[in-house]
Amino acid sequence: MSNVVVGLDIGGTKMIAAAADETGRIIKRERAPTPKGPEAGLALLDEMIAEVTEGAEIIAMGAAAGGPLNWETGVVSPLHQPGWQDIPLKALMQGKYGCRFSVDVDTNLAALAEYDHGKVSKLLYMTISTGLGGSLVVDGQIYRGMNGEHPELGHQSVPYRLAAGRTVACTCGSNGCLEALVSGSGIRRLYRKAPEELSKEEWDEVSWNLGQGLRNLAAIYLPDVIVLGGGLVFGARDSLLPPAIAVMRDHVKIVPHPKVTASDMGEHNVLAGAILLALRDARFSS
Ligand SMILES: [Zn+2]
Repeated sequence: MSNVVVGLDIGGTKMIAAAADETGRIIKRERAPTPKGPEAGLALLDEMIAEVTEGAEIIAMGAAAGGPLNWETGVVSPLHQPGWQDIPLKALMQGKYGCRFSVDVDTNLAALAEYDHGKVSKLLYMTISTGLGGSLVVDGQIYRGMNGEHPELGHQSVPYRLAAGRTVACTCGSNGCLEALVSGSGIRRLYRKAPEELSKEEWDEVSWNLGQGLRNLAAIYLPDVIVLGGGLVFGARDSLLPPAIAVMRDHVKIVPHPKVTASDMGEHNVLAGAILLALRDARFSS
């Protein structure tokens, strides 16, 4: 095997490592459940990296992890991985492997991969699963806010429909957030059932509420395309997407309508983004 880049997807439930060639094509990939604690996690990553690279020289590595993390210093504290507090991942990995190593939030890298795949100028990616998050990529650059933080698309407020008339309290401490209305955990709290058990009328409500969120994003950012991913989108595609898109179109009057589409990369977009991150570094150092 000639020189490779390595992409890592360090998730709360699974870890994926892949070796790719200089065009980004995956040569070998390994996947394993995330062990408890950072020591076991880092040891497993080393094993997986050795397996996928098979002794080839690693020219750069890119990793996706849950937030919060500092993409510049590479210190990570993924919320859904207990024990991972202030882990200096970048310093550890650069010291161990002697190559450039970059890490970014998983939704940012998913957005970067969708951007690379979609060939548009301004792409907004939103993932809806247990929670709701997203990222904006403009001309190939991940949009970063104050202190390098990523915007929280899920915590915008929207005018909502809710026949049950409950208060829409969000886990962030505020009220009326999009995440509390349309994410998997929000649906469970509001409707007191799993998303797959919602009636047609209830899906229509969820879709209307999502459509209001899309309307805000379309009006504020004017992206060329909004790509939707995440388990809830793929599970409920026909009940959710067409009506939500119709609501957005009905309400956006003054700016062009973005194309809204479900991701055709699926959950692979996070790893693909990690590989892109590594390739950027590989080019940078050559
Ligand atoms: Zn919120």
